[in-house]
Amino acid sequence: MQLTGATVVVADPHDPTLDHTSPLVFRDGLVHDGPATPDDGDALDVSGCVVTPGLVNAHHHLLQTGFRTLPGTRGVAMRDWLPAMAAAYGAAGIDPSLVAATTAAGVAEGLLSGVTTVADHHLNWPAGATPEDTVAIADAIASAARALGGRLVYVRGSARDDPDAAAASAHAIAAHLLAGGHRGGVTDDGMLQFAVGPAGVHSDAEATFRLLGGIAREWGLRRRTQANEQVDTEIALERYGRRPLDLLEDWGWLEPGVTIAHLCDVTDAEIARLAHAGVTATHAPGCDVPMGWGVAPVRRLLEAGLTVGLGTSGGGSNDAGHLLADARLAMQVSGLVGQQLEARTVLAMATTGSADGLGRPDLGRLTPGSRADACVWDVSGVADAGVADPVAGLLWASPGRRPRHVIVGGEVVVRDYVLVSGDERAIVAALAARLG
Ligand SMILES: [Zn+2]
Repeated sequence: MQLTGATVVVADPHDPTLDHTSPLVFRDGLVHDGPATPDDGDALDVSGCVVTPGLVNAHHHLLQTGFRTLPGTRGVAMRDWLPAMAAAYGAAGIDPSLVAATTAAGVAEGLLSGVTTVADHHLNWPAGATPEDTVAIADAIASAARALGGRLVYVRGSARDDPDAAAASAHAIAAHLLAGGHRGGVTDDGMLQFAVGPAGVHSDAEATFRLLGGIAREWGLRRRTQANEQVDTEIALERYGRRPLDLLEDWGWLEPGVTIAHLCDVTDAEIARLAHAGVTATHAPGCDVPMGWGVAPVRRLLEAGLTVGLGTSGGGSNDAGHLLADARLAMQVSGLVGQQLEARTVLAMATTGSADGLGRPDLGRLTPGSRADACVWDVSGVADAGVADPVAGLLWASPGRRPRHVIVGGEVVVRDYVLVSGDERAIVAALAARLG
């Protein structure tokens, strides 16, 4: 297919010189270098629209999509938030039917707001689950995302799991999802990636980090964790007399291939260590701000040379999976911790930054050879009237903006603001029915 008539195509948010207006051609699921031929099929007229790469949500907890605005989880300390969420999971019962319903809702919400790839850091498992039980859960999540045509990075997380059980489960899930031994933990079509990651040093001890690190080495997987939320630092100091990054370094988790979410309370010396170690970061202000954890010093992270992506985190803290809304929030609050971030910088975080942290240079850009994942944003309405820079306006103007069309791998999954790869009402009804 090809897109014609765009106001601007942002091929790489980092590099305005690559912006263009000429047709954008998708062939065999990739951005094609060169003109369209009749074989490329119908053109989609996107006059009055800005085209960007599909957004990459680098940090979500899709299970929490079923547990938003829960009483007892707002304006409370993390030590009260955790048991409130755990009680809700326990009452619902985590099983394949629940995660299929929450994943469908979360992925559909993401696609409708321009998120073509989502990293699901899945932390919660039923008590006493066997590796086979966890494979069934992972399979239900991967299948639900695939059915809707959204790309998924499934992260086998851990939160106080038995270390050996977590490792056995991660191994079994890798063998199942990556049957055939795909390189770097990504399936050949790029629709599914597998990664591992404990929730953080506040929840899991050295053995879990070591064992999951070993699985990552064995399978060539990326590693994800969370650090330096206030609670993380408090618990690390209380339990070990050390700061989280000291522990992660000792436990072999300050290395290339590791991405750390949150990083709110981080010193200049720690930022230098992260940069030196080749670690990447994920900013999640839509979680950090309402949880009262503060604002990560994104400009200082970027200036130190870190790759920084953007994530929403889960519905238990950020009740929306709308990454562009959080890009706007990231810009708005950045001035509180130094000089304000530019719109293009934050758009780059939500695309190339997230993708690079996942080890996915095929995502987050619309340069030739990249995956054909794109958002078409209609900027012809009154909310964009008077906007001087339509790319900056994507973030600054029209809060809650949604894309008119969304394309994943060259397939239209949202057309004229409607999900075409699934039935939105049926997804809502299925989750409501499962939650009773
Ligand atoms: Zn999180």
